[in-house]
Amino acid sequence: MQQQEKLTCEGASSQDARERVEALRREIEHHSYQYYALDAPEISDAAFDSLMRQLRQLEEEHPELVDPTSPTQRIGGYVGEQFVPVKHAKRMYSLDNAMDLDELDDWVRGVEQELGAFPQLCLELKIDGSSIALTYEQGALVRAATRGDGTTGEDVTGNMRTVSDVPLRLRQGSTSALASPDAPIELRGEVFMPKKSFDALNAAAERAGKQQFANPRNAAAGSLRQKDPLVTASRNLSTYMYAVADEALLPVGGQWELLEWLRSAGFHVNPDVARASSLSEVHAFCEASLKKRTTLPYEIDGVVVKVDSFAQQAELGYTSRAPKWAIAFKFPPEEKTTLLKDITVQVGRTGVLTPVAELEPVVVAGSTVARATLHNADEVHRKDVRIGDTVIVRKAGDVIPEVLGPVLSLRPDDALVWQAPRVCPSCGSPVVTDRNEVALRCISIDCPAQALERLLHWASRQAMDIDGAGTEIIKRLVELGRLSDVADYYSLTAEELAMVETSRANSEGFHIRLGSTVAGKLVAAIEASKSRPFGRVVNGLGIRHVGKNTAELLVQAFPSMEALMKASIEELSQVDGVGETVAESICTFMRTPDNISVIERLDAAGVTMALAQAAPGEEVPQTLAGLTFVLTGALATSGMTRDEAGERLRAMGAKVSSGVSKKTSYLVAGEAAGSKYDKAVKLGIPVLDEAQFLAMLETGEPPVMP
Ligand code: NAD
Repeated sequence: MQQQEKLTCEGASSQDARERVEALRREIEHHSYQYYALDAPEISDAAFDSLMRQLRQLEEEHPELVDPTSPTQRIGGYVGEQFVPVKHAKRMYSLDNAMDLDELDDWVRGVEQELGAFPQLCLELKIDGSSIALTYEQGALVRAATRGDGTTGEDVTGNMRTVSDVPLRLRQGSTSALASPDAPIELRGEVFMPKKSFDALNAAAERAGKQQFANPRNAAAGSLRQKDPLVTASRNLSTYMYAVADEALLPVGGQWELLEWLRSAGFHVNPDVARASSLSEVHAFCEASLKKRTTLPYEIDGVVVKVDSFAQQAELGYTSRAPKWAIAFKFPPEEKTTLLKDITVQVGRTGVLTPVAELEPVVVAGSTVARATLHNADEVHRKDVRIGDTVIVRKAGDVIPEVLGPVLSLRPDDALVWQAPRVCPSCGSPVVTDRNEVALRCISIDCPAQALERLLHWASRQAMDIDGAGTEIIKRLVELGRLSDVADYYSLTAEELAMVETSRANSEGFHIRLGSTVAGKLVAAIEASKSRPFGRVVNGLGIRHVGKNTAELLVQAFPSMEALMKASIEELSQVDGVGETVAESICTFMRTPDNISVIERLDAAGVTMALAQAAPGEEVPQTLAGLTFVLTGALATSGMTRDEAGERLRAMGAKVSSGVSKKTSYLVAGEAAGSKYDKAVKLGIPVLDEAQFLAMLETGEPPVMP
């Protein structure tokens, strides 16, 4: 991430830097107001943090632009006029962030150097809520205040009294050991909205046609800052407490003991805490917390690492906005901002032209994103993204990266509006817009880009799974005129492949040939692909609208290529899951002379042309008809992929479904089975291990479970 921000900031002239700093500050102030005052953020926290980091970096590179009123120098917050202001006993701070484990290590090492020894650390989850300060006098709750700007907060006592886990009195016994039992004591923590309450609140808002909250954190802050405590009471807020304003008042020497005291006093304290005295322990806690994140009933956005000893905390001190003795390790954000350098056009295997965002590489949710699909021309214009814009990129977990939109205030004057191409960028043929579709399409049958995509699709794992048929070599064979359709694969020889020059050159500048070893392996993989099951062959043909699942449905209804080629639109439409558009597309494909000739050549080469084991005259007994199977984990003994296992089951009449439900007849659980296993056990669904599964394929009989 820092790399991307460096690239966008470096080299800026002083004037450019000033303008950008001012633009960033305006933008940040605007979003801070939306967030802290209105509880209605317009952009994600990660996108906001990314803007902050860009500003911080520019200020570091241009110290002459540093200003005490800059958002980088202050604690973000807001004190609303509708609340009575409350001065905090001691300032409430924010936290500095470490965006990855390297930054966290740097911080720990810095602390170690400062203290002269590796400190005992206390590790806590970073609860994504709103800071709260609760003041007790003579053991009774007398005031609750928000963080506000750190010095002054808002009085929300009436509201906090309604939060059921906040003790109105400290537990007897916990106060007896206080240094001065009569002195007011200010305890601090986080008030948050559990995920369930948040979902219920937003569902109710939707039903009532009211505006919904962006996330549980803003919902918590909004619920806390209500005029009517009854509204707060209805929001099911919760708290986790973790700090004291003046530790001298308590009989404890550090953070760990403080948490124990808070527990004894009757507060809700998060149970996921740990002590660490090495970097590896810190890493292990951060990694485990990240994994746990989605399963917790409340939101967390990181881990807070604190030096445990209060004496050492005092030694380290504070900056203007955060303690130097603590740091927040932030989980990899799922959104970032980056520069949209260009919009290029990719030609797919069915001729669809897709605009693609070419981005300044940026790490999002743990992986580098340099390109993202913009889907179609309408989408580009609807999102109003222009070349030169700073855009927000999102990637949640394994999901494909997506460009959400531009940051308008950072748009340069010369940002370019993208024009959809009139001709195919690969073959130069005019492009057409499909009836009822927003897609632009190249309809030339000779388009090399389409040919390449069709060839790669045929060789892909979901289709014929030809190991070694990568983009580079296939592209080269297309250029050499040796591959133009999928049947050409089966006429390639090891001898000619061995002589093919790759694009890589040796030290003398000669192109390196593929060589006999690689060529031999590729030919063997092509040979092996001939016996892939029929469903994969149909998928591999690349018929428009026919993907892996539709292909499987089709081959069950039309178990041979001959039957499929003869099927009418009406017959095809009878298949569950095949609509008229799909049926039309199959018919058009199967009636096109070029395609018929490719299928004939595939047949002649010995590629599977009918359902597995359905040799003429011999039907596979449908002994598993009426049963629904779900597959999970790896079938390590047989080495069968889940797709292959599914095909075997379908061939015997079973249905294969992706999720466990009450309707599931059996779960087949291989090694490292995941959450589906837990769900099946919970629902009482019979679970087959791999040995039982293989035996069932062999005998055709589902096992009788005890
Ligand atoms: P922060 O929320 O990142 O971190 C500091 C806070 O963490 C503390 O004040 C405390 O309340 C909380 N915290 C939770 N668990 C804790 C624990 N175990 N120990 C100690 N503290 C704990 O910083 P911030 O200054 O409160 O707010 C900045 C955040 O607000 C950033 O994440 C930023 O993205 C977000 N923000 C977003 C927008 C937007 O438009 N989306 C605008 C402004 C601010």
